Amino acid sequence: MRSYSSVFRDESKLDINYVPSRLPHREQQLNLLNQFFRFATESPGKMTQRVLITGKIGTGKTVLAQLFGQTITKTAQQKGINLHYVHVNCRECKGSFFMILQRVILHFSPNFPRRGYSAQELLQALMQVLDEQRAYVILTMDELDALIGAEGTDTLYSLTRVHEDHTTVTQRLSLLGIIRDTSLLNTLDSSTRSTLQHNLIQLDEYSKTQLLDILNDRIASAFYDNTVSSQTLDLIAEDAASEGGDARFAIELLWRAGKYADNDNSREVLPEHIRRASESVYPVVRKDAVSALSLHEKLFLLGVARRFKQSGAAYLSMGEAENAYAVVCEEYGEEKRGHTQLWKYVQELSALDVIKTEPSSVGLRGKTTLISLPHVSAAELERELSKTLGA
Ligand code: ADP
Ligand code: MG
Repeated sequence: MRSYSSVFRDESKLDINYVPSRLPHREQQLNLLNQFFRFATESPGKMTQRVLITGKIGTGKTVLAQLFGQTITKTAQQKGINLHYVHVNCRECKGSFFMILQRVILHFSPNFPRRGYSAQELLQALMQVLDEQRAYVILTMDELDALIGAEGTDTLYSLTRVHEDHTTVTQRLSLLGIIRDTSLLNTLDSSTRSTLQHNLIQLDEYSKTQLLDILNDRIASAFYDNTVSSQTLDLIAEDAASEGGDARFAIELLWRAGKYADNDNSREVLPEHIRRASESVYPVVRKDAVSALSLHEKLFLLGVARRFKQSGAAYLSMGEAENAYAVVCEEYGEEKRGHTQLWKYVQELSALDVIKTEPSSVGLRGKTTLISLPHVSAAELERELSKTLGA
């Protein structure tokens, strides 16, 4: 008999960065990706590809790309093709084209000098390094929204056109973009847009039954047998389905509930553990996100939270948010940042899913952006921010 010290067989299988060997309900999309990139292992160098994956949070965009990357590099290796899959998260790079390119180039040449180049020069250097190493690359730009938000679309344009300057040389750089907000595509030039829209893989929200399949797979590898009853499982799937078919939420909930079970010395994860986990999972996700923000992002968000708390409204206009931020800056003795910078904060916070933005319908004051707080109570957010800001 094993002692019930833990319900977990292997917790790491629930880690957000873990890439399982199969993805229930994404088989078709994985096939599609393989088809789009088949040339890379059959006739590399002859062409390149640009593909876009889109879908809401927790629909498996990142994990799909990662699993595809693992599979295709394995196939390439077996065929003796020097194909690299490089996955860069644009938000982690603060949307900076320079930082993104730097990560890619460091993948191929770890000693590449970190200073003294412009982004365009880095891009040329990258092409040169690929030529020298006779390497092919599928570059995944995850959370592409951040790059477009920070730098507009010119950079994406130059990246998609990089081979056009020298059509005679071997084609080495393919792109796989991951984007949440497809309306950003409308800001692209029409030819880049049409290429990308042709090769668009749309991931829909998971249904409850699909979430059940995904969870069952994870439970088999992460938990000891008979520690998660079907009733408990059903509760998680139900909860995650109502949170917008978000598999990330489902897995986080499962993990956290397991922690509560361990904490209670329970040999089984019970519905009550799920309920407790459910109460804590969103705020906790946000807290991590919130503490990593820059000072002025925090100040801005604090303004937003307070305004929501005072007004009880569902939406704030960008102008109202700016005013609220100005008041907070005064209180904290900080000089306030300009409109353009605030706009970037809004993009960033929205990419982090802390706030949600949408364009207003055209009203008296013209079109503006409306901000809402879908996942966290304003009071909770204010408390959290005041704590990290040390007030
Ligand atoms: P996104 O990038 O769309 O926000 P992720 O790819 O990060 O979503 O997926 C969120 C979590 O759900 C990850 O832990 C991922 O491994 C898991 N996941 C998503 N889809 C599936 C699936 N079809 N099968 C197994 N796990 C999945
Ligand atoms: Mg992702």
